[in-house]
Amino acid sequence: MPDEMQRALIQRGGGTGSCWPLEPCVSELKTGVVGILGTGDFSRSLARRLVASGYQVVVGSRTPKRSAALFPEETEVTSQLEAASQADVVFVAIFPEHHSTLLELKAVLAGKILVDVSNGLQIKQGGPSHAERLADMFPESFIVKGFNTISAWVLQTGPRDGSRQVFLCSNSSKAKSTAVAMCRKMGFCPVDMGLLSSSVEIENLPLYLFPSWGTPIFITLILFIFFYLYNFVRDVLHPFVTAGKSVFYKMPIETVNVTLPSVALVTLALVYMAGLLAALLQLWRGTKYDRFPDWLDKWLIKRKQFGLCSFLCAAMHAIYSLCLPMRKSARFNLLNAAFKQVKEGVENSWSDEGVWRMELYVSAGILALGLLSLLAITSLPSVADNINWREFSFVQSSLGYCALSMATVHTLLFGWDRAFDPSQYRFFLPPTFIVVLILPVSVLLVRLLLLLPCIAHQLRQIRRGWERSRHIRFVLPNDDCYNGFDNVSNV
Ligand code: NAP
Repeated sequence: MPDEMQRALIQRGGGTGSCWPLEPCVSELKTGVVGILGTGDFSRSLARRLVASGYQVVVGSRTPKRSAALFPEETEVTSQLEAASQADVVFVAIFPEHHSTLLELKAVLAGKILVDVSNGLQIKQGGPSHAERLADMFPESFIVKGFNTISAWVLQTGPRDGSRQVFLCSNSSKAKSTAVAMCRKMGFCPVDMGLLSSSVEIENLPLYLFPSWGTPIFITLILFIFFYLYNFVRDVLHPFVTAGKSVFYKMPIETVNVTLPSVALVTLALVYMAGLLAALLQLWRGTKYDRFPDWLDKWLIKRKQFGLCSFLCAAMHAIYSLCLPMRKSARFNLLNAAFKQVKEGVENSWSDEGVWRMELYVSAGILALGLLSLLAITSLPSVADNINWREFSFVQSSLGYCALSMATVHTLLFGWDRAFDPSQYRFFLPPTFIVVLILPVSVLLVRLLLLLPCIAHQLRQIRRGWERSRHIRFVLPNDDCYNGFDNVSNV
């Protein structure tokens, strides 16, 4: 084999050029025996999966006779000592507070791989993790952290019905390679998380509750409450106070249905507002290398969640709107209007303007929802992984602005000329659509401003690494001065 081929691809060990020998990948166990300590839910499911994947399994219990019946017959259920001495790899399927009871097995477990599957009770910001504590207790064993993000249920039903990813970390690459090979054989996708110090993060993973959704959901809820109260005051309270007319029946459907599109449009505008603020900041600073303020950074990261909240509200608005004619109140109102017309001798209530307005309004709404659905689908990791960056930014940016424009047109058509009707300013409050439109219209105007060639060119340059502060400004001697302007040269 030529020398070139024998050289390691990744040089490690600092700049000396020396290369640490890579440990051979252990993909098979010496004896093929896998041990599990503990006979609880996790142990039983793990034993089934291991047996189904072709491993010989020995389970260690404090009371083997009592637990044996719970395991598949191919599994040997014995004492903890016996199981630990037979197996190459031992899964520690007992709660971490009981890890210390295994100390008497220290000598038998020396040189063996211990897989800690335990979960924490609360999110930890720093170590030591359960796995690190186990490593301190068993310094002569090789500790691997993993499988804790897989539930006993998923283990039992097989990876096809649940999450396939198994996060693994260890300070021993040999032990990790063994765990990775076992993981693959069991049908899961191992994810290497590096050294054992990552075990804190792995233990935290099952404890997070929608970590990036808090702020978007909170803001969506605040917007919902605000617009609901606003609509309630204008559409329900106003007729009651001024004319004694009780229209409280509007609260569960009509008021909600006017609130949902308001929230959808404002949250969609928030998605694009973050990017515009970032662009304006870059233009103002003349560089892309200065960090954004923390709040803007967080906002930019959460655009997907804001977009999905917007989609949810828009989809619910569509369903509510389709159900409007089903209501008894709608039928009564329609009949009453018809009787009133007959009484007044009106034969034809057709209004070209009204018809056109409604046709365009509904069409713009459907187009906006269609585009929003496309944005939502492409934000799914499985879809996003299958499109390239250009396609992704085309959908999320170009089609996203189309969706925002369509939704704005939909709202404008809903408003039509009502903004100029004084009777719409109930309790001196402007119609809801005017309040709603402030943000999306501003976002679209700023976007148009950024599209002006001179501004777009500068922004493009900044995003390619150009920096204003790296330009030296100098004034040429009088005779070389161009009409008194400074000459600006790039260095
Ligand atoms: P479990 O049903 O309560 O089983 C725990 C087992 O630990 C017992 O059956 C017991 O078996 C054994 N054990 C050994 N020494 C013990 C002691 N001193 N005191 C009490 N029990 C002792 O718990 P599990 O749900 O299987 O969970 C086991 C581990 O897996 C935990 O660390 C958990 O965080 C982790 N995990 C569980 C799941 C899940 O879905 N259940 C998912 C991910 C991770 P013997 O009496 O036979 O010795």
